Amino acid sequence: MPDTPSLPDTAAAGARWHAMTPDTVLEQLDAGREGLSREDAAARLEQYGPNRLETARRRSRLARLVAQLHNLLIYALIAAAFLAAAIGHVIDAVVIAAVVIVNAAIGYIQEGRAERALDAIRGMIDPHAAVLRDGKRVTIPACEVVPGDIVLLEAGDRVPADMRLVKARSLRADEAILTGESVPVDKTCAKTVPDDAPLGDRHTMAFSGTLITAGQATGVVVATGKASELGRISAMLGEVERLTTPLLRQMNLFARQLTIIILGMAGLVFVYAAFSQHYAFDDAFMAMIGLIVAAIPEGLPAVMTITLAIGVQRMAGRNAIIRRLPAVETLGAVSVICSDKTGTLTRNEMMVAAAATGDALWQVSGTGYAPDGEFTRDGSPVTALDDPVLAELCRAALLCNDAGLRVVDGTHAVDGDPMEGALMAMALKAGLEEAERERLARIDAIPFDPRHRYMATLHKGEENGPVAYVKGAPERILDMCAAQATAEGETGLDPAVWQEKAEQLALQGQRVLAFARKGLPAGTTELNEADVETGLVLLGITGLIDPPRPEAIEAVAECRRAGIAVKMITGDHAGTARAIAIQLGLAEAPDVMTGQDLDKLDADGLAMAARKTEVFARTSPEHKLRLVEAMQADGSVIAMTGDGVNDAPALKRADVGIAMGKKGTEAAKEASEMVLADDNFASIVAAVREGRTVYDNLTKVIAWTLPTNGGEALTIILAIAFGLTLPISPVQILWINMVTAVALGLTLAFEPTEPNAMRRPPRATGTHILSGRLLWRVVFVSILMVIGTFGVYFWAVDNGLPLEAARTLAVNAIVVMEIFYLFSVRFAHGTSMTWRGALGTRPVLIGVGLVVLAQMAFTYLPFMNAIFGTAPVGLAGGALVLAAGVGLLVVVEAEKAIASALARRRDGRAQA
Ligand code: ATP
Repeated sequence: MPDTPSLPDTAAAGARWHAMTPDTVLEQLDAGREGLSREDAAARLEQYGPNRLETARRRSRLARLVAQLHNLLIYALIAAAFLAAAIGHVIDAVVIAAVVIVNAAIGYIQEGRAERALDAIRGMIDPHAAVLRDGKRVTIPACEVVPGDIVLLEAGDRVPADMRLVKARSLRADEAILTGESVPVDKTCAKTVPDDAPLGDRHTMAFSGTLITAGQATGVVVATGKASELGRISAMLGEVERLTTPLLRQMNLFARQLTIIILGMAGLVFVYAAFSQHYAFDDAFMAMIGLIVAAIPEGLPAVMTITLAIGVQRMAGRNAIIRRLPAVETLGAVSVICSDKTGTLTRNEMMVAAAATGDALWQVSGTGYAPDGEFTRDGSPVTALDDPVLAELCRAALLCNDAGLRVVDGTHAVDGDPMEGALMAMALKAGLEEAERERLARIDAIPFDPRHRYMATLHKGEENGPVAYVKGAPERILDMCAAQATAEGETGLDPAVWQEKAEQLALQGQRVLAFARKGLPAGTTELNEADVETGLVLLGITGLIDPPRPEAIEAVAECRRAGIAVKMITGDHAGTARAIAIQLGLAEAPDVMTGQDLDKLDADGLAMAARKTEVFARTSPEHKLRLVEAMQADGSVIAMTGDGVNDAPALKRADVGIAMGKKGTEAAKEASEMVLADDNFASIVAAVREGRTVYDNLTKVIAWTLPTNGGEALTIILAIAFGLTLPISPVQILWINMVTAVALGLTLAFEPTEPNAMRRPPRATGTHILSGRLLWRVVFVSILMVIGTFGVYFWAVDNGLPLEAARTLAVNAIVVMEIFYLFSVRFAHGTSMTWRGALGTRPVLIGVGLVVLAQMAFTYLPFMNAIFGTAPVGLAGGALVLAAGVGLLVVVEAEKAIASALARRRDGRAQA
């Protein structure tokens, strides 16, 4: 490690960097324009610490535990425990307290695990920064940036640290986070700013946490972490997201309302019981408490939260990283997916397959990015550099290019844009050398922007002075050209001929790019748009292949089965987009519209086009926003992908904005609900499938939990109404709730995707999760539970069993019915009477095993008998209990079959 005794005190100098020239700043920081060495950077990281701000503090453990108890359902139970204790029912009070504690503990542990999992998932999308180290551009985690680092900024980046700009081109930054000013400000490196300029006027600086909205720049880092301006104004950043979603809030509200209804009903039942003279005051009181604990679904909120968290984890396992939790639910309802083409639907592994100049057409062979392959003309190999126009085209491809190639594990890989990597490979195949980039050094550049669709670079020329090379979308470049290069010299060009050539390549699904050049006056050091937008000489075009991802073809087919429309929205040429859409199976003869076509439409026309067109080509990011809005108008739920800074508004507007994890900008990621770690369309579809699964599982949790409570509550109400002894006592009810909610209810959170999850249309939005069908289910099963419970209980009483044994049988009957019902609920959209249904899953089998053991203990262990007022039972009783479970399963499955037959008939009639 080098000794770094005199590293500058950045904090002390902090206020003045903006007033110094770039060179003074570099000197003070002991840094250079070519960046720090790796060793120096490591030493600085040691000294200045990581470039990180404290994030909002997590809730303490105690606060999290208390939060578990902060719930009306639990309050009601705690009050019940006190009341029971007050009238001397100590065992009941203790058991109620135990239930409350077990519930809170499970909630606490599971929620803690879920929060840690979410943290880990978010860590996967931590920001990165491009810096120069040892003179080479490298991408590092933003927390490793140190003072003195040279950072490269471009549109869409979040500035990783405070920096003095060293170079800037049309740079604008959104500094709202620091200054509150919502209009992006222009930045420059040329002038200095007065010492006392307020933060908003320090145009020579880029500040940590602000967003680059346009342009490109290089800056030298002057302050990191807490020493940055952002660190000064706030030590805490970013709120901690709570584990909740609209649906969970909906259910929590429902649970609260239910609790209030239950309390009211319990009061009425108490009054009725106390005055009906069937019960002593004491017993009436305990019956009321029994009703309260029976009816309150205390385990429901925790199990629902856990279901959601498991969904998020599963999605992360499929490369879909959820940034905002409500997206988990929305994903399950997505009806349209709008996707980019390049890299999402296609592999983004490009190769130049063809090149055309004014004189001829060449084919190029090879695989991947290896610079091995040859040029052929009419089937015969040629030496590319022998043709002066082709040679110049290849030179343009090499020089007007920011990518590099490097060998990793024996294969060639691209540093930068894959398309540019492919162009570089082509130039090397032609026989040019990378050294050409030093010989004709770059003086200036206009970066690519999807709005103007070209890129230009200015180079030190050979004998005739500086030369600009331009590459971009063919229509755009043709507009800028005045002539074409041929073997005979420059001649006039016919745009129609070139368009036809481009169309021919596009028809094969190739991405077409045009190249041009222009000589500029000696002494030119700056390249402006006006310099290149007229008077160019066209060199030719190239066709790049970028095959569809095989898994995307598969995923498109899956979407079709699942009633989800897939639309391609691309910046590419209409012909290329159509050809790729056909290869993907988007449609046999896809409708294609271009951005220009869209511009001509009024609102109605746009709504119609958005609905029926599959492919939108040559669009700009603004079109994406208009299309989302048009599609949402008819109630569609839209998932939309994006990567650039200009995509942010459309990503925000879409129901599920999806940013690319690899090639996406920070701006796009921050605007989106979900980030794709692998940029792959198939991962979106996997996330939708998981989204549907989560929704199904939440429904199952509700459909299973509520009838348990309903059955128990109804049993007590009926017993009191008819003046009977309670067939189950309050402590026994608590036992059932505690054992089954944990061991059985929780297993539903782990349910795998149902086989037909992607064979049915997306669920309608705006409906309450407690649909009419679900409520009916709850009531129906509750009634069956009551019948089963009373049936077993009366059988026992009729056969002269003592009360303890009769109650033990009744409790076992409820638990066994719940076990069988669990197997039925696991398949919400089909019969459960299958081999697969009977086998269950591991969590289900473990859960059932645990419950059976617990019930054995409950029935046969003497101390359990003492606590719960139970008694051992014989074989006949056991058989009857089992019969109750089987009977319930058969009736519920029959109802399911009848209901779905009726629904099919209704649908059939509606279609007819
Ligand atoms: P998608 O939107 O599906 O990702 P895309 O990558 O083709 O498609 P853009 O990045 O907006 O969309 O590019 C639009 C067009 O601009 C391309 O078809 C190409 O002609 C041109 N282009 C893209 N990248 C560059 C570049 N680096 N230099 C010059 N021209 C480019």
